[in-house]
Amino acid sequence: MSQARALIIPVTPFQQNCTLLWSEASKRGAIIDPGGDLAKIERAIDEAGVTVEKIWLTHGHVDHASGAAELKERLRVPIEGPHRADLFLLERLADSGRAFGIAGARNVVPDRWLDEGDQIGVDDLAFDVLHCPGHSPGSVAFFNAPQRFAIVGDVLFRGSVGRSDIPGGNHQVLIGSIKEKLLPLGDDVSFLCGHSFLCGHGPASTIGTERATNPFLQ
Ligand SMILES: [Zn+2]
Ligand SMILES: [Zn+2]
Repeated sequence: MSQARALIIPVTPFQQNCTLLWSEASKRGAIIDPGGDLAKIERAIDEAGVTVEKIWLTHGHVDHASGAAELKERLRVPIEGPHRADLFLLERLADSGRAFGIAGARNVVPDRWLDEGDQIGVDDLAFDVLHCPGHSPGSVAFFNAPQRFAIVGDVLFRGSVGRSDIPGGNHQVLIGSIKEKLLPLGDDVSFLCGHSFLCGHGPASTIGTERATNPFLQ
């Protein structure tokens, strides 16, 4: 099993954590949540020397998905995720991008919708898909069991949880997703999350730390 590497690339005025993830041995990888600033993303890919084979989306919000259509065309790779319940968000990315100042935002339809129990992968890095609604109805998290890490988008942050006061959000559903899907992964699991101002540029935290100290989970 090859070692996974991850590089956070903050993009858009929201400082969203676009993530370049790859297999150390083969340098084959995926881009997660290319929300915008594609020149910056492509520069990071080049500097890392990674061949990107997939684009993965955790959910359909403007800061996470607005650059996916354009990057797909440039790299000629498929888009996987999020869950189909976020279609209504993906269908209005161009409008939302204009409203929130994200240049070049385009609507997108993924090549593959994801659902609970699916697996996605690049090279020999395999991730279980967890459907975690509540921040958005179609939010998904990705869990690499062998190396004990997860990518959770805007579901869970260090000491906080995702917003639910936005269209399609529901706080009770969100807390249920975290307790039923993320906490059972295990206290030793570290996770990357969606925004650097809420979780920094490296692993945000561990499931165990959040189980013990996150005020929204007590
Ligand atoms: Zn979001
Ligand atoms: Zn976000």
